Amino acid sequence: MQLVQEKPPQQSNSIPSATETLRYLATGLMKWQEQDRKKRISIPPALRIGMSQMYLLSLVKGKKPVPHDLPEFLELAKKPLGEWFPCKEIKYLNENATLIKDGFVSDFAQDWGVEGSNTQMEIEQKAVEDILKECRGKQLHEPYIAFRRMIIEHPVISYSEYNTKLFKELRDLNKESLDKIYKDLNVLTAEEECHLCPRCGYIQRKRSDNSYRCYNDTCQELRVKQKLGEGKTIKAGKYKAVTRGAHRFVTLPGIWEIKLYEELKKLGAGVTLWPDIDEYDLRVEFKSGVTWAIDVKDWSYLNEERLHKVQYIHDANQTFVVFPDEREDDLRRIKVRRKELHKELKKVRLKFMSEIIKEAKKIIKSCGTINNNGVNI
Ligand SMILES: [Zn+2]
Repeated sequence: MQLVQEKPPQQSNSIPSATETLRYLATGLMKWQEQDRKKRISIPPALRIGMSQMYLLSLVKGKKPVPHDLPEFLELAKKPLGEWFPCKEIKYLNENATLIKDGFVSDFAQDWGVEGSNTQMEIEQKAVEDILKECRGKQLHEPYIAFRRMIIEHPVISYSEYNTKLFKELRDLNKESLDKIYKDLNVLTAEEECHLCPRCGYIQRKRSDNSYRCYNDTCQELRVKQKLGEGKTIKAGKYKAVTRGAHRFVTLPGIWEIKLYEELKKLGAGVTLWPDIDEYDLRVEFKSGVTWAIDVKDWSYLNEERLHKVQYIHDANQTFVVFPDEREDDLRRIKVRRKELHKELKKVRLKFMSEIIKEAKKIIKSCGTINNNGVNI
């Protein structure tokens, strides 16, 4: 994603771009939310720039409500973009998306926030990258997979389970780096009892009506849709949990990666998770000799800029970017734009999960299965 600097455009009389304005607003809102509620005295620079650009845009594009101050903007941010933002200026923007949902910065806004703006969550993500670098340097493939799976499958873990893992599958990893990702739960939350999300297993935040919801909008929606009920309740003093950054950037997308991995394995394809220490997400091998490289993307909107950064993997026959079907509403433009995008992306192909499963089934039907150790049968 493009790095937008936190200073106003040099020519004050130029019309700001809607894309840049939305990035400033989203980044600014994230920083606003990170500030301690009681100490919110200054408006983050990104939010100030975004609001003044928004003001100029509204004047030029007309017909949209103009936010004059922060409270007015925060009210608009709860409404669908189509009602107040010049959506037509940005290709395929979802007009129903909101920047604030349920009183918190939405997933959509978080995805629009600028990478590299040093939000707390990005700093936390760096700790995961440090372990990745360490594993690459020492060629620790198995420990890396164990570490990654732990964040995805146990974002909250008891002290005893954590210590067992440290002595066993994670013993080669740097404990200090791990402790930057797994914090004592009573450091992450003031609650004595924690209510875990029944879908992702992470701690939830408390609403003003004393009910709980997942930090992630999509997780919350899926939890309701799939009728998952209530999650576990635990005592904070006995557990560790990953940071919010690790939850957002590793646990949540990882749920889809593991799901696709399990489904392809069950079909009888040879599947490797995060091959070559996380060059990409899944390597799939078929008995016919065909191999696929897959990157799973849990996006809340079609980010063409990031899509163009996906590398074609030369030692696989095909490289796919795969999106969860549950994201189809957010990403409905993929189906409309697919032909055009495929031309631009050259050899990289876009698929939804159900489409990739269907294609794998077809190949396996004609050539047979590979067992889970990668041996032809
Ligand atoms: Zn969740």
